[in-house]
Amino acid sequence: MSKTLVSIALWALGGWLLGTWLGAAIGWAVFALGLLLMVLVSGLQLSRISRWVRTIDEPPPPSVGPWDEVLAPIYRKLKQNRLDLQERTRSFQRALLAAEALPDGALTLAPDKSLQWCNQAAADHLGLDLERDRGYSILNIVRAPEFAHYANQERWDGPLTLHLGHGGRDRTLSLHLAPYGVGQFLMVTRDITQIERLEHTRKDFVANVSHELRTPLTVLSGFVETLQDMGDALTDAQRDHYLDLMAQQARHMQALVSDLLTLSSLESTPNQEGGPVLIAALALTALAQAQALSNGQHTFDVRLDETLRVRGQDTELASAVGNLLINAVRYTPAGGTITVLWEPTPDGGAAYRVRDTGIGIDPADVPRLTERFFRIDRGRSRATGGTGLGLAISKHVALRHNAVLDIQSTPGKGSVFSILFPPARVCPPDYKNKR
Ligand code: ADP
Repeated sequence: MSKTLVSIALWALGGWLLGTWLGAAIGWAVFALGLLLMVLVSGLQLSRISRWVRTIDEPPPPSVGPWDEVLAPIYRKLKQNRLDLQERTRSFQRALLAAEALPDGALTLAPDKSLQWCNQAAADHLGLDLERDRGYSILNIVRAPEFAHYANQERWDGPLTLHLGHGGRDRTLSLHLAPYGVGQFLMVTRDITQIERLEHTRKDFVANVSHELRTPLTVLSGFVETLQDMGDALTDAQRDHYLDLMAQQARHMQALVSDLLTLSSLESTPNQEGGPVLIAALALTALAQAQALSNGQHTFDVRLDETLRVRGQDTELASAVGNLLINAVRYTPAGGTITVLWEPTPDGGAAYRVRDTGIGIDPADVPRLTERFFRIDRGRSRATGGTGLGLAISKHVALRHNAVLDIQSTPGKGSVFSILFPPARVCPPDYKNKR
């Protein structure tokens, strides 16, 4: 402003000087011309400024006379605001990315419980599509009476467990609502399907173990009572018979407890690399037990590669190798043939196979054979001393050795149970035990 006033004053002074020398008319004309020039220059400056305003991110045009002093601080302020905004946008995006990366679902609801925002996990859990569902009440999206009841509470002390099925998948979700901000709500969703399944398995397992132990215990205590009540009235032969039956039940309980301990140690010990194991030696030890159990009723055909070794834990492998062989005896009627093979496979791996000509297995039952306590014929399993845990143990052992337990069977004809080791587990002939 001061520059403008100085210019006007200079033009006025010039006009006055010329007026006193050349006459008043000339003086006024020079002053008017000066003012006109100033208006023209101002107009030009204003048009440059208005052009700059359209691209305000650029620095203001230089030399715009009195406007220089006005534009410079405005531009500095604008630049600062722009930097602040960029920083805030970046932090907001970081927060959004973090919320997206959460393994749990998160969604925000307006005071009327309409959906505002959700991350990908929440969208997966509840089948949401943010574009489609934004602004709709969560009660209309998650249509379950127990959820409506939960969401309409005044405060939430804990999560709600909800079973939902969408996209052809049944899930169990844990949903937890909490108030935040001004009247808004945050909902956290977590998929607990797996945890719930494990909990079921654990409960089933405890129930099964109790049941398995109760049966022989009941029988055993029945005989104890009989012996106590009728001790003197029994003949020696009767007493021996009862004692044999009692010993049989005790052996069954021992086998069960021993299998349970094996399973628990498989689950609790870390998987170690192990040293070279001669499966042929383990198979021969198991063969002696199998032949004792068979009592001459089966023919054994044994073909073992005596130099083929795999890296692993010998006690674990001994139990898997033994289980398959003992099962073959137990589920093959007298007169059957049991073939035991330990051989390299064409891919460089190794296979332990037990083939029997026994009762075979219905294809529908094959996938369930390795479940704990699954038996096709409970009576037959128990009568032959089975615990229902042998194949579960064998599968576990195979997995710990990166091997596969393969089961091929034809009902009425027989089965082949194989443990297939990958090439990486097979020891080269010059392999030394490094431990
Ligand atoms: P069990 O102690 O009952 O034998 P396993 O886990 O070893 O328990 O086997 C589970 C079930 O698989 C057995 O009860 C039996 O029904 C079936 N099975 C196992 N091996 C054979 C086999 N060689 N032939 C036919 N059925 C078998």
